Amino acid sequence: MIEISKTFTISCAHILPQHPGKCSRLHGHNYTIEVAVEGEVGGDGMVMDFDALNDLVKTLIVDRFDHKFILPTGNAFVRRDSVYWYVNVPKQGEVRIPVNMCAPIVIKESTAELLTLEFHKILSAHAALTYLGLRVRVWETEKCYAEIC
Ligand SMILES: [Zn+2]
Repeated sequence: MIEISKTFTISCAHILPQHPGKCSRLHGHNYTIEVAVEGEVGGDGMVMDFDALNDLVKTLIVDRFDHKFILPTGNAFVRRDSVYWYVNVPKQGEVRIPVNMCAPIVIKESTAELLTLEFHKILSAHAALTYLGLRVRVWETEKCYAEIC
């Protein structure tokens, strides 16, 4: 078995409304997403063409989230109308973001851990990756990452 890996970078804004510290303030990260695929080397000498992996991750993750506000739709402090998403931050106020600037995602908080689980779910549901071992690591900063183990 061989593992191949490619990294991607997305810049996103987010907020953790219930966080007791500074993460309850609007801020952003340049997330690095490592996507690794494990499999047998095929007749073409590859586990998977890096270009194919690139196209998949770009379509399913990068294009959806890059330069957007990550909006955790499963959070009780989040609501929307036809024009805006609203994030109510206790004791601080409400943040209002135009719907077209948001990347809604069905998670409770936009933590690195939950983003990792969701990115893995999105990618592993694609037919090209279903039968290969898939590993996803999301770096929130240069020093902090989450990975399914
Ligand atoms: Zn953050």
